[in-house]
Amino acid sequence: MKKNINIIIMGPQGSGKGTQARFLTKKYDLQIFETGAILRELAKQDSEIGRKINEIINVKGDIVPWDFMKERILGQKLDQLDRDKGVIFDGTPRIIEEVEFWSRKLKEVERKIDYIFYIDVSKDESVRRISSRKLCRENSHPLIVGKDLSEDETMCPICGSEVYRREDDTPKKALNRLKWNEENMKPVVEYYDQQKMITRIDGERSIEEINEEILSYIQ
Ligand SMILES: [Zn+2]
Repeated sequence: MKKNINIIIMGPQGSGKGTQARFLTKKYDLQIFETGAILRELAKQDSEIGRKINEIINVKGDIVPWDFMKERILGQKLDQLDRDKGVIFDGTPRIIEEVEFWSRKLKEVERKIDYIFYIDVSKDESVRRISSRKLCRENSHPLIVGKDLSEDETMCPICGSEVYRREDDTPKKALNRLKWNEENMKPVVEYYDQQKMITRIDGERSIEEINEEILSYIQ
């Protein structure tokens, strides 16, 4: 297998792509590029850009406009990555305008996308998973209420740190994002489909099964 593989992992929220991305990051010593995490991190900052993003994603539960974030946020972040290491893009690109931006940007930094995985789950399953998930503060372990911990448990069963629900994980905000996703991701997926670049993965199975399937395509 070649060194420095670059992977895009896509799928609706709640598809488990974050879990798979983290797994692949460890397995192949990759850097993770997650638009959502970059934005959530910025939203905590007391700066002009931080307050603006917080207002959009946490207060309104909206999607950050592409024009606002491309060069100032994402372009900069990409430039900061270690050029000797591969990258996994988690949830990027999200809209068709991004596809062009990323192919240009990636060429600039001499990266080529080797694999694109689309993890597919139904809308019902997606909403159900989003409204039942929590994260732990220290390691962002994804935890499912009713499976990994009970509703009133406050500590991560893996590392013992405090667990919380993401501010934007209410069913209403989740549905809002899913609807947005459906409309905007479709052309992106179609585009990569035409290039015969996408591998579709059935996401309504166990984490291990999904993981094994992904690895079978890489190795
Ligand atoms: Zn934890």
